[in-house]
Amino acid sequence: MRAARLITYRQPLEVTTIPDPAPAQDGVVVRVLACGVCRSDWHAWSGSDPDVILPMTPGHEYCGEVASVGARVTRWRVGDRVIAPFILACGRCPDCAQGHQTICADQLVPGFTCDGAFAEYVAVAHADANLTSLPDSIAPDIAAALGCRVTTAWQALVGRAQVQGGEWIAVFGGGGVGISTLLLGKALGARVVIVDITDDKLNYAKALGADAVVNAATCDAPQAVKDITGGGAHVAIEALGVEATTVSAMRSLRKMGRMVQIGMPAGDHTQMALPMDVLYSGQLSVFGTRGMPSWRYPSLLSLIAGGGIDLSPLVTRKISLNQVSAELAAFDHPTPPGVAVVTDFVS
Ligand SMILES: [Zn+2]
Ligand SMILES: [Zn+2]
Repeated sequence: MRAARLITYRQPLEVTTIPDPAPAQDGVVVRVLACGVCRSDWHAWSGSDPDVILPMTPGHEYCGEVASVGARVTRWRVGDRVIAPFILACGRCPDCAQGHQTICADQLVPGFTCDGAFAEYVAVAHADANLTSLPDSIAPDIAAALGCRVTTAWQALVGRAQVQGGEWIAVFGGGGVGISTLLLGKALGARVVIVDITDDKLNYAKALGADAVVNAATCDAPQAVKDITGGGAHVAIEALGVEATTVSAMRSLRKMGRMVQIGMPAGDHTQMALPMDVLYSGQLSVFGTRGMPSWRYPSLLSLIAGGGIDLSPLVTRKISLNQVSAELAAFDHPTPPGVAVVTDFVS
């Protein structure tokens, strides 16, 4: 099969032919219909994710069609359209049994700890525990864009911060996670302010229904959020994993506010100096979050399939395997609005 392989950090992926994967006893192989390009792939590409051992096929936001099935799989047949969370949980441990698959100690993460989906086929471990049936009405490129950013945002809003209708959400970072949070937040009845440093992204967010936007390059962003929201956001979402935006997110909250750290602090940002006086006096809550357990897919997919949310504005670029490297390198700088999804695996 064709695959885009990461051989050397920060160098273009090598698009090459490698053997097709075979399913594990409890796994399947999926023919990839679409795979998103994400900032987490850039972490892997740039060598700042310690889990990655080279060579590796990146790509963790995928959907596709079951192509072959392991002997112990009971729920899936060849031809089924499926989507998988980027964290493949074991399905058997106490954390999985409690519904906390994202903290499973035996998890696999395609594109990071095993080969991912910038390829014609990807092996999916523990298929019965992880896959969800993908409705025909959801196009592959939209489903792939769900794989990490939308699902992570859904878990942050619903599972962690437990956002209520009418609350203000301040989103720091107007990229894929930011736009996902905007669309989901609006669908939940919240009001959303997007904070970024590029006018392109802010204009895009505004066009997609953001109640307000703030350019952090030209003002005191936390103060601007407080002015817009009448005292501070109820919920702040940090979508970059960067100290400056994490500090701003905390400072933008009203008292008793909740912050969710979605951005992965990597490289120089693993240690941050945070305003603990603000946390103390404001009696804030801070949540970490990573991924979404597979059991939350049906609620999200039915919201999308039922027309409760239109995710098509999220995907602004459909690309081929050969174009992934340029998208990865682009994360070194402020990126254009929307996300890129690989839909062409042969040319
Ligand atoms: Zn487990
Ligand atoms: Zn991702």
